[in-house]
Amino acid sequence: MRVDLHVHTYPASSCSTIAYRDLIACCREQHIAAIALTNHGDVSDNRRLEGPLADIGTILVHGVEISTLWGDFIVYSPDLDYLASFSDIQAVPQAGTIADDAAIVWVHPAAGGGLSRSTYYSALAHQVAPLIDAVEVWNGNWTGTSYVETAERLARTLGLPETAGSDAHRSDRIGFCTTEIDGDVGSTADVVAAIKARAVTPVAPVAPQGAGRRVGHLFDLFRR
Ligand SMILES: [Zn+2]
Ligand SMILES: [Zn+2]
Repeated sequence: MRVDLHVHTYPASSCSTIAYRDLIACCREQHIAAIALTNHGDVSDNRRLEGPLADIGTILVHGVEISTLWGDFIVYSPDLDYLASFSDIQAVPQAGTIADDAAIVWVHPAAGGGLSRSTYYSALAHQVAPLIDAVEVWNGNWTGTSYVETAERLARTLGLPETAGSDAHRSDRIGFCTTEIDGDVGSTADVVAAIKARAVTPVAPVAPQGAGRRVGHLFDLFRR
C-alpha cells in the first residue's frame, strides 16, 4: 500500500495552508487509504482529524517532525501523548531513549534542519546512525538530484531502509512522494513495524502531467 509519510496541516504547522477540511476533502476525493500527519512538534491536528478521517475510510498515521542541531527527524508512534512530548525545535533525542513502539526517520537529510536552520555535513551520518530507523530519500520539496543522491548514499552507508514523503504544505502536493509499504496499513503501529522490518520502498514523484512517468527516470535520462 502506498502511503504519503510526510504531510503538514494548518494550524498545527503554521507554514502549511492545508486546513482540516482540505485534508479530509483530499482523502475523500482521492480515496486515500492511509496518510501520515507529521506536524512540527504538535499533535493537536492528529487528535482532531483521526476520527473524521476514519469516518471516510482513511487511516491517519501519527508522527511529529522535530528540528535539531543534526537536522530534521520524524518520530512515528501510535502514542499521541508520547509524540506530544516532542517540540518543533529541540535537542537531538538521546539514542536508546526512544519508545519501543516508535520509529525515527531522518528526513530531507541533505537539506539540513528546516526550523533549526542547521546545516548538513557528511560526518553527521555516524552521529545520527544510532538514533534512526530509516532515511527519507525522496522529499517533495527537495527533489534535486544532489539531495536525493546524498540521502540514498546515507541510507546505503548506514544500511537502513529508505522512505519518501511529499512534505506537503499545499493540498495539491499531497501524495507527490509516497512510500510503498508491504501489506496493508491498518494503523500507525503497522507503519512503525514496516519501517523496522525494512518493508518499505520509496516511490519517486510522478511527473506533473500525471502520465505515469517518474521524475526519477527523467533524472536518469539527464545523467546519460
Ligand atoms: Zn523538515
Ligand atoms: Zn516537513
